[in-house]
Amino acid sequence: MNTPHVTIIGAGLGGLTLARVLHLHGIPATVYEAEPAPTARTQGGMLDIHDYNGQLAIEAAGLMDEFRGIVLHGRQAMRILASDGTVLLDKPDDGTGGRPEVQRGDLRRILLDSLPGDTVQWGRKAVGTRSLGDGHHEVTFADGGTITTSLLVGADGAWSRVRPLLSDATPEYTGMSYVETYLFDVDTRHPAAARAVGSGSMAAPATGGKGIQAHREKGETIHTYVVLREPLEWFAAIDFADGAAAAARIAQEFDGWAPELTALITDGDVAPLLRPIFTLPLGHKWERVPGVTLLGDAAHLLTPNGEGANSAMYDGAELGKAIAAHPGDIETALTQYEEAMFPRSVEFGSIGAELHDLDGDDAAAGLIKLFTENGD
Ligand SMILES: Cc1cc2nc3c(=O)[nH]c(=O)nc-3n(C[C@H](O)[C@H](O)[C@H](O)COP(=O)(O)OP(=O)(O)OC[C@H]3O[C@@H](n4cnc5c(N)ncnc54)[C@H](O)[C@@H]3O)c2cc1C
Repeated sequence: MNTPHVTIIGAGLGGLTLARVLHLHGIPATVYEAEPAPTARTQGGMLDIHDYNGQLAIEAAGLMDEFRGIVLHGRQAMRILASDGTVLLDKPDDGTGGRPEVQRGDLRRILLDSLPGDTVQWGRKAVGTRSLGDGHHEVTFADGGTITTSLLVGADGAWSRVRPLLSDATPEYTGMSYVETYLFDVDTRHPAAARAVGSGSMAAPATGGKGIQAHREKGETIHTYVVLREPLEWFAAIDFADGAAAAARIAQEFDGWAPELTALITDGDVAPLLRPIFTLPLGHKWERVPGVTLLGDAAHLLTPNGEGANSAMYDGAELGKAIAAHPGDIETALTQYEEAMFPRSVEFGSIGAELHDLDGDDAAAGLIKLFTENGD
């Protein structure tokens, strides 16, 4: 028996890694992606790719050389600042860390470039899925089209349309939101903020679980996540369409902080973007349902801890290898994949959990411990 054509919903890092590993094993797959084109949205954000999950996935995808070509050298540097700007930790990137930083968009591009041109169908948003029995499923798209498949993989992120075939779980608001800002040409236009952030990442935690985290991205861009713990209604009262007013309101929460830190909020070159953080319960799992599975955020949406994209890629690689290892026996492949993935998602999802509930000085001390003891 041959391995069936694999239907993947979602061309994020997880879905594309799966498609690539399948391709290396000669197994055909089609990825249906809601976005109209690869360039439809800035893929924003820098990701550190870990040697215990993300890099193993890249290796399985046969893309290590391409990966080395997109690594942003020097970006593993880490600074921890107090709210008054005092530098509590300044750890340079000495090139020995196991977490090279890349732009998410660059990583997605090398995966896309490694696939046959017709693998991804853009502008195909799945709006419904239903079981046809006997391990077969139907997917309906927003354009009215439908497909049927005997091997369906939900790689469609937090709000997966495939997940309901397996589980009733839906993401819940964590009580925490990020507000993202971007500063461009920082060395010339925002030098004080550029010095505060340094050449890699900077974290300035505070009481109440709030704080400011920033990364120096490709070129002279600083991308900031302002972390706030407020109910959704609190954010709804802020008019994010009025960028300057929204930035000023968010900065009020950091009244008295060093100006080079509040500048990361008030001097943004684009309007601040609200990103409420939702999660699935840690340990989310389901009973085996023939012909369908999930990977990445669709399976285990985590509180951001630097593991989500790494985990999604690792899932994609592991699922691809499991399918290739069991030609003609998809159920064994999916069972083995899920049996390993469920405990792994708890393991990766728990990393850094001890930091989530720490406040101010304790959070700073916890971060310093993390970055000095782990050696990376
Ligand atoms: C603010 C923030 C910062 C983060 N920082 C990090 C970090 O530093 N390191 C890290 O490892 N992780 C990080 N994460 C987590 C990481 O972004 C996710 O875990 C990761 O992107 C999950 O990958 P995925 O492929 O499962 O899903 P996604 O990246 O969400 O990809 C899903 C894809 O499916 C498509 N799609 C969605 N719905 C449909 C549909 N109905 N039909 C068709 N296509 C659909 C989407 O357009 C998308 O292309 C962060 C998350 C947040 C919110």
